[in-house]
Amino acid sequence: MASNTEGKVIKCRAPVCWGPKKGQTIVEIEVDPPKDHEVRVKIVANGVCRSDAHHLDGDSCDVALKYPLILGHEASGIVESVGPGVESVVPGDHVILLYCPQCLPGKECERCSSDKTNACKYDNFNTTSTMRDGTTRFRHNGQTIYHYCGISTFSEYTVAREVQVAKIDPKAPLELVCLIGCCLGQGFGGAQHMAGVTPGSSCAVWGLGAIGLATAMACKDAGAKRIIGIDTNPDKFEFAKKFGCNEFVNPKDLDIPVQQYFQNEGGLDYTFECVGGNQMVTLRAAFESLAPWGTCIFSGVTKAHVELSIKPNMFLDGRTIRGSTFGGLKSRTGVQKLVTKFQNGDYQLEPFVTGRYTIDDIPECFDLLRQGKACRSIILYKQ
Ligand SMILES: [Zn+2]
Ligand SMILES: [Zn+2]
Repeated sequence: MASNTEGKVIKCRAPVCWGPKKGQTIVEIEVDPPKDHEVRVKIVANGVCRSDAHHLDGDSCDVALKYPLILGHEASGIVESVGPGVESVVPGDHVILLYCPQCLPGKECERCSSDKTNACKYDNFNTTSTMRDGTTRFRHNGQTIYHYCGISTFSEYTVAREVQVAKIDPKAPLELVCLIGCCLGQGFGGAQHMAGVTPGSSCAVWGLGAIGLATAMACKDAGAKRIIGIDTNPDKFEFAKKFGCNEFVNPKDLDIPVQQYFQNEGGLDYTFECVGGNQMVTLRAAFESLAPWGTCIFSGVTKAHVELSIKPNMFLDGRTIRGSTFGGLKSRTGVQKLVTKFQNGDYQLEPFVTGRYTIDDIPECFDLLRQGKACRSIILYKQ
């Protein structure tokens, strides 16, 4: 299915972020055709994720971004055209975009071919401000606009490396499965791949945003018995029940530190830090709430130069702390498995959606996130 835009520059709209704390405005941009091993995608739906707000707000996150750029990293779309050498997708294919690349089958780097990591050797957050040839595919009034995570999904059209798109079943609803590209992958990967939550276990999730709720859902799917939601905003507790949380703790209501509260009852099997930002307090609390055999998974985005202070003796009992990007999942194959699992009815996506919006509403959607008033806002694009 060749498109009539194939090989041509496409003019479309995108929110351009001009720099940290310099705002984001929706302007017309030009999107170049894809080059070797690149894919141009017409975006269908985007989830608005907190990680992007850190870059808008100027919270340094140890990621070397180039500005101006187009944010967005949790999206689905339809392939518009492909560059030379692309073999895994064709125009018309439905895809989820991947902020973590995964090398193609038979062409894997030593990391992508190993079970030990999902961090591809070739690309990471610090190299995906441009395509691999060092140039970008976006311009505004002749000015270079940079990519973000290699996918910049808030644009109506985007260009990505082939290794950053996952072909999915065209029957899967694109307006919902976009969430698999970030929060669902992080949550399910963190709970089931990194932690390996077991049936009957006790789990606690710090931070009841979309990643925390996806983590709770994955703990439930794994058969956990206790799923404790921890947040300083009790308004989130009722909502979190839909995702499997069956106990709640507001640390502000305790007269002892939350880790002491859990140690008094023997400690927990699995804890998950999904707050983001100031992990010195919450990550330490999550780790120190573990039973001696427990595992703590860290899933937030840190501000630069944040350091963690914990007593080394806590490790001698056998406690583990692990971090993960995209839940440690191989991105393309992990997304495909989660789409199948969704289609099988193993978990729901609709409960995450607190509103549906257009591209013009993106700045407002970030305000709703900052105010704690949205779980996931979905941006739907004109088709
Ligand atoms: Zn995200
Ligand atoms: Zn690789």
